[in-house]
Amino acid sequence: MSGTLYVVGTPIGNLSDLSPRAVETLGAVDFIAAEDTRVTLRLLNHFSIKKPLVSYHDHNLRERGLAIIRRIQDGESCAVVSDAGMPCISDPGEDLVRLAAEAGIPTVVIPGPSAAVSALCLSGLPTSRFCFEGFLSTNRRNRQLHLESLKNDPHTLIFYEAPHKLTNTLQDLLAAFGNRRIALARELTKVHEEVLRTDLAGAAAHFAETPPRGEFVLIVEGAPADAGKEQPSLEEAVAAARELVLSGLKPTEAARLTAADTGYKKSEIYAGLISERPASAEGEQV
Ligand code: SAM
Repeated sequence: MSGTLYVVGTPIGNLSDLSPRAVETLGAVDFIAAEDTRVTLRLLNHFSIKKPLVSYHDHNLRERGLAIIRRIQDGESCAVVSDAGMPCISDPGEDLVRLAAEAGIPTVVIPGPSAAVSALCLSGLPTSRFCFEGFLSTNRRNRQLHLESLKNDPHTLIFYEAPHKLTNTLQDLLAAFGNRRIALARELTKVHEEVLRTDLAGAAAHFAETPPRGEFVLIVEGAPADAGKEQPSLEEAVAAARELVLSGLKPTEAARLTAADTGYKKSEIYAGLISERPASAEGEQV
């Protein structure tokens, strides 16, 4: 009988956020796979939990992952944790869950805080549709390509960033997106928790004066709904209105709908329609 892999969320700063179920699970498993065993040992000591730890991080994912899976297949149960927040979210865990799923090992999540969702909730920006983008690449070209791909994305965007890179990142966001609203959530759940709600130009100016300190999540307003849409020519707008007339709409109604869709004046579109109509049909008032 194989054991189970538990994916356990840990606090992002405030130890009281470790859930009773997480404490129970960490205390019950046979061993814990930890991103940094020293960090996890401090957490376990705080809760008086004694458990064997194995290190599981970005640089030993593959061979250590397979070894962990073998132990679970032999009947042991394992909890995977990262230094803070949810494993698998810009942290190790994704690969282990995939290996477990491929091996038919039961997987259970013990949810905890994640900085991304916690920051989004405090941002004051739209929360119904959002996109988690993690850390931007340090490679300039890749970073630009990434930002370019997001330029017209209407979702609220979530980025993680290290404090020493924040000022440059704000400049890059401003250059790629233009000035948009942003919320910078800092040191969440800790003593110096703070949310700065401003725009990209304001944030860049602020942090040029005040060097950023602590951990940050950036929540950036999505692109306007019409971003990236090309403005049709007046002839194209009139052609679209004509299609509506052919499908049975009155010219005035077709002109009104097309005007709302294209930004041209209703009278301009109507004039275009009328100039193409047979003489008997002219004379309808706009
Ligand atoms: N797995 C974690 C999670 O679920 O949130 C994220 C780990 S990622 C390696 C670390 C980044 O998360 C930091 O650079 C920062 O952007 C963000 N972060 C973590 N804790 C935070 C906190 N207390 N306040 C603000 N941001 C935090």
